[in-house]
Amino acid sequence: MKKWWKTLSMAAASLVLASALTGCGVVSSGGEDKSSQAKEDGDKIVVGFSMDTLKEERWQRDKDLFEAKVKELGAEVKTLAANGDDAAQLNQAEQLISEGVDVLVVVPHNAEATAAIVDKAHKEGIKVISYDRLIKNADVDYYVSFDNVRVGEMQAKEIVKQAPTGNYVYIGGADTDNNAHLFREGAMNVLKPLEEKGDIKIVYDQFSKDWKPEEALKNMENALTANKNNIQAVIAANDGTAGGAIQALAAQGLAGRIPVSGQDAELAALQRIVEGTQTMTVYKPIHAIATKAAEIAVAVAKGEKIETDQKIPNGKIDVPSVLLDPIAVTKENVLDTVIKDGFHKLEDVYQNVPKDQWPKQN
Ligand code: BGC
Repeated sequence: MKKWWKTLSMAAASLVLASALTGCGVVSSGGEDKSSQAKEDGDKIVVGFSMDTLKEERWQRDKDLFEAKVKELGAEVKTLAANGDDAAQLNQAEQLISEGVDVLVVVPHNAEATAAIVDKAHKEGIKVISYDRLIKNADVDYYVSFDNVRVGEMQAKEIVKQAPTGNYVYIGGADTDNNAHLFREGAMNVLKPLEEKGDIKIVYDQFSKDWKPEEALKNMENALTANKNNIQAVIAANDGTAGGAIQALAAQGLAGRIPVSGQDAELAALQRIVEGTQTMTVYKPIHAIATKAAEIAVAVAKGEKIETDQKIPNGKIDVPSVLLDPIAVTKENVLDTVIKDGFHKLEDVYQNVPKDQWPKQN
């Protein structure tokens, strides 16, 4: 239920009454009177969750855990996913706003285009929380994510351990996603000094449209062709793009012979890691981000002020932010990280490995 109803029930001043009514859109898209809906809702807070996509494995988990936490906190949640379509995400956010959500949590497909969502929400007195990906150039109220520059650094560090010299390929994520830039920035923090020293050479560096594995596959094919297969290392920005890159390497008989990074601790990637075709992934405990974002969303909807430990610039303001710690995962620590946490089961991760080679779980 929107705050205006609570305000209305208490307000005596007609000025407050008038601004609340105009400011918050009394008539919903269906044309019915919001006040009757508000009465039906009782006093329950409603959180709107506008997601870019449910495509990568992680996002379904984000959705399920976020919704569960919001409910546990006594609020309701309405989730819509836009399938990677900017216009659809804007429409869906408008729909959530018109349905009277108290707060909006957004995983932007396009960091710049979603600034319009923030403006629309603010006009209705609704605060906006950027989830995992930062909305750029807008008055975003809070940002909850992982330390994404560190993600990129972890990827590059692990690959450099395997390939201290040689030709490097960077297979990036979506150019429209601020995170893709942060992951790349982190990787370059590690790679550029090595390139300056002459140890390595970055021979290919491209984003992959919309994080699509097939785009990553094309990128990897192009990199291999341009360098006559003379590649010693691949930094892929996430597990989906790693999958595409490894497919291209496999076609040249190079899978498992060239280190490849990833991110998200997707099941397919963990299987590749224990089988030896992918070197590492970055595990970002989704439970932690979903819980934090839900707690902030419900508190914000109640009008509480949140203390955050840092502020991240988004081109317009410094956004109060919470950045959680990512964890690098290789074959060596898969048991003590993702499996121990219950993120994936041992029998699923080792499904394609003979049972006598499975590690012992304590
Ligand atoms: C997320 C990654 C994810 C990618 C593609 C990024 O913004 O941080 O975890 O793999 O989007 O969905």
